[in-house]
Amino acid sequence: MIIIMRPDANDEQINNVSEKLKKHGFGIHLSKGVERTVIGAIGDKSAIELETLAMLPGVSEIVPIRKPYKLVSREFKIEDSVISVSDKLKIGAGQPLCVMAGPCSVESHDQMLDTARAVKAAGAKMLRGGAFKPRTSPYAFQGLGEEGLKILAEAKKETGLPFVTEVMDTRDIELIVKYADVLQIGARNMQNFVLLREVGKTGKPVLLKRGPGSTIEELLMSAEYILSEGNRNVMLCERGIRTIETYTRNTLDLSAVPVIKKLSHLPVIVDPSHGTGKWDLVKSMSLAAVAAGCDGLMIEVHPHPAEALSDGPQSLKPDTFAELMSQVKLVAQAVSREL
Ligand code: PEP
Ligand code: MN
Repeated sequence: MIIIMRPDANDEQINNVSEKLKKHGFGIHLSKGVERTVIGAIGDKSAIELETLAMLPGVSEIVPIRKPYKLVSREFKIEDSVISVSDKLKIGAGQPLCVMAGPCSVESHDQMLDTARAVKAAGAKMLRGGAFKPRTSPYAFQGLGEEGLKILAEAKKETGLPFVTEVMDTRDIELIVKYADVLQIGARNMQNFVLLREVGKTGKPVLLKRGPGSTIEELLMSAEYILSEGNRNVMLCERGIRTIETYTRNTLDLSAVPVIKKLSHLPVIVDPSHGTGKWDLVKSMSLAAVAAGCDGLMIEVHPHPAEALSDGPQSLKPDTFAELMSQVKLVAQAVSREL
């Protein structure tokens, strides 16, 4: 349930309510909005007398959250969340669109740095690149591991752009948090609940990708795992789901953007590269995603897609990416968004 405090409630009253709830075994999540403070209380409602709680000084209203996800829900937090990646980069509604771009996998120093320079020149705000790769085949390229993280760190140093990279295994978290600005939970791991809890303990921004066979509600439940550990810096990523259609690698579910915006306060990123699997569809779906109201895009770019060790067919060349960015800018303007 959430306890909505009166707009004039003071800190002492807020603390008093929080302490009372804690004493009855509730987990407390404070949300100080511009207008008023909301106390999220997760626990067994029968453990406390709601009428008595409602009479405490400063309390305006007690509202049950009927959805199975609590902390990620709009009911819990009315205002859109803004995720702070660095002093300069904030992601969420009201902030400029954030385009994250780079290769599927970090393959070499030159490949990553050439890509990083090109995407920065075209206006990307963040780099992407996998160092630990979830591959369907155990015989396929599995990523460069720490060597890949070091290359990403060099690309960051040269361009000044922060980067996002995937964490597949709880055993790698300690290493990856030393380098990465944003931790990516890949689609295949969306319901790896142990991993979700562990990234929740880091406090680092997390990009949580929707599983190809998962509903929006399941995605929100997975995000709830991360928030329930105290990490509110979560962005949700629509990257295509499995449907009867086989022409595209996945079916990019763009209606997920307004649906998630309705149900949750968390920022939404769209990945049209994995969503389509085809480079020549990436631009149209990027434009559509921006029109649909996403807060950012994740796009795979490779200097020589034909030679890529993973996801070449869906990777844009730097010049095509630059063209995409100039058109994204126009659609962003049309929906009153900066790029
Ligand atoms: C990726 O971003 O390269 C990736 C593997 O994505 P997904 O988990 O969405 O398949
Ligand atoms: Mn990929």
